[in-house]
Amino acid sequence: MAMTATQAPDSVAPFTNEPINDFRDSADAAAMRSALETVKRNFGKSYPLVIDGRKIDTEKKIRSLNPADPEQVIGSVSAASKEQATQAIEAAARAFESWKHLSLPERAAYLFKAAQLLRERRFLYDALLVYEVGKSWVEADGDIAEAIDFLEFYAREALRFARPQPVVPLEGERNELIYIPLGVGAVIPPWNFAGAIMIGMTGAAIVTGNTVVLKPSSDSALIAAWFVDLLHEVGVPAGVVNFIPGSGSEIGDLIVTHPMIRFIAFTGSKEIGLRINELAAKPQPGQKWIKRVIAEMGGKDSIVVAADADLDAAVEGVAVSAFGFQGQKCSACSRAIVDEKVYDEFVDRLRKRVGKIAVGDPADPANYMGPVVNEGAMRSIEGYIKKGRSEGRLIAGGKRVGDRGYFLEPTVIADVAPDATIAQEEIFGPVLAVIKAKDFDDAMKIANNTEFGLTGSVYTSDEKKIDEAREDFFVGNLYFNRKSTGAMVGVHPFGGFNMSGTDSKAGGHDYLLLFMQAKTISRKV
Ligand code: NAP
Repeated sequence: MAMTATQAPDSVAPFTNEPINDFRDSADAAAMRSALETVKRNFGKSYPLVIDGRKIDTEKKIRSLNPADPEQVIGSVSAASKEQATQAIEAAARAFESWKHLSLPERAAYLFKAAQLLRERRFLYDALLVYEVGKSWVEADGDIAEAIDFLEFYAREALRFARPQPVVPLEGERNELIYIPLGVGAVIPPWNFAGAIMIGMTGAAIVTGNTVVLKPSSDSALIAAWFVDLLHEVGVPAGVVNFIPGSGSEIGDLIVTHPMIRFIAFTGSKEIGLRINELAAKPQPGQKWIKRVIAEMGGKDSIVVAADADLDAAVEGVAVSAFGFQGQKCSACSRAIVDEKVYDEFVDRLRKRVGKIAVGDPADPANYMGPVVNEGAMRSIEGYIKKGRSEGRLIAGGKRVGDRGYFLEPTVIADVAPDATIAQEEIFGPVLAVIKAKDFDDAMKIANNTEFGLTGSVYTSDEKKIDEAREDFFVGNLYFNRKSTGAMVGVHPFGGFNMSGTDSKAGGHDYLLLFMQAKTISRKV
């Protein structure tokens, strides 16, 4: 199969982050309203599987419901059977034989084009996220801006890897090191950054010369269907990205264990990440390689508030980190660890701040918090709130809002012991535990007492404490005097330690290496 290369770029401007839309600006707000209307008019549309460029409708569908009003069906995607998942892997293996021969700059050109088209459709994608996963306008816009950033950043990274790589010269030999792709990858994203993570992992996999089967999250399959269409619009050849929605429990193991799968790029929960890692480790008959697993997993992130912190800033940082997108970020603050000298004052100010958070339909920009993603998530979070009431003192929230959508109040439980269940397990919802520490050293000990190690933040005005936390706070992304969420591509390469995953550092200079292998070529001259 011959593939026609798209024009490789001659020169590109240095990477800069995509500007965020300003919804106080009437033009951006009007564009968003219009996009929400457009997306709503098209509710109910169904999207097929895409295998080797062929669109295949199946009887079995996965429906995307609006978590703000679950009776609203946003749309549906066809669900792949095991046979179709196998066909998709085989199609990706065939496409790999040509795609791998394109140069890195040729493949980068596809990502630049995709970024441009996504930019042009930004408000529509924003609107889809509002309906499909319950993001506020600002959160949805941040997600799509990040998706554009990933495409732009990884395209530039591919150009960097295309340049000669440094090796020590040796007389009488010409030596070089080049990066080549791995093969067929399974891309398995979560629903919470339904645009950014799905697009980032897919973009990184294909720009480096791999081909992909993309199994989206069942809670956010529509946005993935849109993106697969967009890739084909910009000319990405058939078979390079195959789209196989399906429940993880039904087709996940088959994909992960298939002998033609060379690597798995996964972002999601610890439980599923560990399962994938275990299954992928066992070689299957006919398998010639050790599968590579990139697994970015959960978090139980802390913000430490020292006695010398600017308390207003700390309260603000904790509130937005804990309750932005309903606490459904791997980087969300779910534990505030506060020096006892300022504890009561902090708790009092936090209670007042949280009381001002508006909860409701995210299609209305007045609401800061929308619904949680689905009924199962709501029930699980309610279970943790119940547990939390027995493990501490409820100072804010605790209840469901309304009875239609999956809305929960922002919930704060104070006086929680460092080893309590709600201080240890990832809740993935709007529930914050506040923990009292004896002093800063005690706070740092508590901060490191979970099995995770994703993000952390420290509010302090003391340089010595900053030095101590730099050294001792065991997290992949450490922040000072700012929120623990909102990592920006290129600026804050992202990924965590311990049970938070393989520390892939998405959006950083190490990331593409995970999708390639280096080949050294030496010639006697
Ligand atoms: P999840 O339940 O683990 O699902 C993630 C993906 O895995 C989905 O596409 C899911 O498909 C699929 N899956 C489920 N079972 C599978 C199996 N047996 N084999 C293969 N794939 C399977 O996680 P989530 O609820 O979507 O996302 C939330 C989690 O992601 C949180 O723990 C959060 O902390 C984490 N996260 C981490 C990062 C990071 O960078 N560290 C970033 C974002 C999110 P179905 O939807 O069909 O089940």
